[in-house]
Amino acid sequence: MRRYSSGLRQAGKTIAFVPTMGFLHQGHLSLMEKGKALSDHVVVSIFVNPTQFGPNEDLAAYPKDEDRDLEMTRKTGVDAVFLPDARQMYPDGFQTVVSLKALPKHLCGLSRPGHFDGVATVVTKLLGIVRPHTAIFGEKDFQQLAIIRQMVKDLEMGIDIVGAPIVREADGLAISSRNMYLTTDQRQSARCLYQALTTSRQLVKDGETNADAIIRAAAARISAYPETTIDYIAICDPQTLDNVPVVNGLVRMALAVKVGKSRLIDNMMLTQ
Ligand code: AMP
Repeated sequence: MRRYSSGLRQAGKTIAFVPTMGFLHQGHLSLMEKGKALSDHVVVSIFVNPTQFGPNEDLAAYPKDEDRDLEMTRKTGVDAVFLPDARQMYPDGFQTVVSLKALPKHLCGLSRPGHFDGVATVVTKLLGIVRPHTAIFGEKDFQQLAIIRQMVKDLEMGIDIVGAPIVREADGLAISSRNMYLTTDQRQSARCLYQALTTSRQLVKDGETNADAIIRAAAARISAYPETTIDYIAICDPQTLDNVPVVNGLVRMALAVKVGKSRLIDNMMLTQ
């Protein structure tokens, strides 16, 4: 991968990088398309990073279909796919952890301790191997995008971090590899995330500024659906991720809901 990347750089070509955990879908493909538009070459990585999964999370069950993934990248016009295995990424003696101080202390970081250390460390390593000019991340994982932006800035990595909008199913559900775990009934319930977000956005449009009131309404909307358990609903500053009590500037709503056993996340700007 390093040789490939150095060769391209020496030839004066630009590289866009899309890191993924595979089981590719339309959301991932939109990132690749963005990469194609921005750069001469697009590199995709597929690596289910064990260090970002907690002990009771779905690492062992995480869906996988390498042949299908490779076919999809080929059809999308991706130039190279990097598929390391966990032994190559974390050989015996590996001991470095990249950890941010404040951004992980919000949202998903609270219910997934250590998750963002795993993400920041693997992304640092992948960026060091692929050495792209640009790396593209989905707004679906909004906190992850904020953390990577901060990390790349703090560590002077000199890589352009580009965010890409959330790709959704026709009924609004954000596309995710984890949606395949849902039963037919749970798939119906999963609509509650998008509905809670759009309802909240409408409340703000109608003049509501009290974040607690908006969150309560969103919670009621979600709880009306069977098999849903709210992990968190937050209205936050899109840069610092700090909770915002009164909506009067740019704010983002982020939420995580368990539908059956699947933990789904989504987010949306409430103000433009
Ligand atoms: P994952 O394979 O889930 O780690 O995701 C790899 C990249 O794809 C991350 O930057 C995600 O934010 C992005 N992504 C996942 N789902 C979507 C989606 N529905 N729309 C846009 N980007 C997405």
